[in-house]
Amino acid sequence: MLKENLIASFQVDHTKIGPGIYVSRVDGVGGDFATTFDVRMKTPNKEPAVHPNAMHTIEHVVATFLRNDPEWKDRIVYWGPMGCLTGFYLIVKGRPDPRDVQPLVLRAFEHLRDCEGPVPGATPVNCGNWLLHDLPMAKWEAARYAEILKTTASYEYEKTERPGTAGGAFYDS
Ligand SMILES: [Zn+2]
Repeated sequence: MLKENLIASFQVDHTKIGPGIYVSRVDGVGGDFATTFDVRMKTPNKEPAVHPNAMHTIEHVVATFLRNDPEWKDRIVYWGPMGCLTGFYLIVKGRPDPRDVQPLVLRAFEHLRDCEGPVPGATPVNCGNWLLHDLPMAKWEAARYAEILKTTASYEYEKTERPGTAGGAFYDS
């Protein structure tokens, strides 16, 4: 049953997020689920965000990779940048765990790390701002994030504890 499907967005304390892959929300859509992942590349407000040009290039290259991956392409709903420039949203059909999509995201960023160009879709016909790209910087960011995914990445938000709730600690979900 789609009973627990409309899980509200987590009340995430952005001062406690590090790089990793997190479930941002799960929605019921037409009898199935759509899971939104927070593919977080940077520690918010503590390190420089990704440059807009590099974000745009990461968007193009990784989206193209995801939509062509033999294993996952039919489950990819959306890949797009966060406005805060610290990561991307990945929406996938079904209800996989962050660790289920980690190998896919790692493959995508390793592909970008090794990408020699041209950036797919970076033409006036295919893109709304085709000169806003930076492949060298995108490759640098991809190499860095791929290393994080292989080492220190987190996969679960630290729960926000609300003091003073009757019956003990309350955890947002
Ligand atoms: Zn574009």
